[in-house]
Amino acid sequence: MQPFGLYIHVPFCNGKCPYCDFFSLRGSEAAMDEYTDCVLEKIRSSAQKTGRKADTLYFGGGTPSLLGGKRIARLTEAARRSFGLENAEITVEANPGGDLSGFFREAAAAGVNRVSLGLQSSDEDELHLLGRRHTADDAARAVEDARNAGLTNISLDLMLAVQGQTQESLARSAAFCANLGAKHVSAYLLKVEPHTAYWKERETLRLPGEDETAGLYLAACRELENLGYRQYEISNFARPGFESRHNMKYWHGEEYLGLGPSAHSFFGGKRFHYERSLAGFLRGDGPEQDGSGGDFDEFAMLRLRLTEGLTDKACLARFGYPVPERVKKAARLYEAGGLTVCGEDGFHFTPKGFLVSDMLTGEILFAK
Ligand code: SF4
Repeated sequence: MQPFGLYIHVPFCNGKCPYCDFFSLRGSEAAMDEYTDCVLEKIRSSAQKTGRKADTLYFGGGTPSLLGGKRIARLTEAARRSFGLENAEITVEANPGGDLSGFFREAAAAGVNRVSLGLQSSDEDELHLLGRRHTADDAARAVEDARNAGLTNISLDLMLAVQGQTQESLARSAAFCANLGAKHVSAYLLKVEPHTAYWKERETLRLPGEDETAGLYLAACRELENLGYRQYEISNFARPGFESRHNMKYWHGEEYLGLGPSAHSFFGGKRFHYERSLAGFLRGDGPEQDGSGGDFDEFAMLRLRLTEGLTDKACLARFGYPVPERVKKAARLYEAGGLTVCGEDGFHFTPKGFLVSDMLTGEILFAK
């Protein structure tokens, strides 16, 4: 059986960014201890139930660096004892600001070998309008601290279509990532989600319009490619060989187990998730069931997020049949418009296609 990916959601942040809809809250030392003990218990009980091996571990959040190196080490050690983690990619997310040097040293000693940092922009005005609590210099220092601790596999997050952003400022942020030696860049389009502070202010925000947003996304793809980052997913770019192994499991339709409030899983053919409640998680509330997963439509939707796209080879390996001819035929209809690239073996979306991927995926997969 293929090893699965283990995700641990760390639900603590120093404050709430106005656009963020991830589950996070301010955490005391006592709450972090209690949370850590609870996740340790879940790791043990999951290992007993499944008897399976994992080969990626991802600490996401929230701000996992707030947990501190010692708690991250306890969790990593427990995951190793329970799930093997042989030759594993072990990622920890962190947010710049404050002195992270000790944290990175302890995390590296515990086996963490990849860092994902929430840079978002190198432009101070954009950072301010995003409500971020760090500067570009803080981010540069965090990268240096990670590297000094031996953590050289560094990913930086950028946010696209933020207030005041231009293609020029975006190009500077992309170059900033390259100059810092990032091996991977995630560039997400800002989306104003319900229940966020941005949502309440949405009438007064000066966000780029639809055309401008499309221009910014295409500019990000272009700039990052020019800087040597190969796009491999709608929002993810990497130096060759530095694609996120953990996140690839999501898009390849492979199994992952999520622990922590709001964490989602696809395991044993089932999808399930923990509620967005720390109290519920600590109380021992089990995950909510979301039904079965992994059918052809779901598999195709996930694969079409990737630049490798939907191929006969992948479908044959998974389902024993190639990409259905009606799907290939529908994908060809969008080739002349520059939205898809089709070959004998399958097809994939272009950056222009990614911009309308929800619509495009539906039109192609559910074509008669
Ligand atoms: S630091 Fe990240 S997880 Fe925390 S509130 Fe800001 S965007 Fe959300």
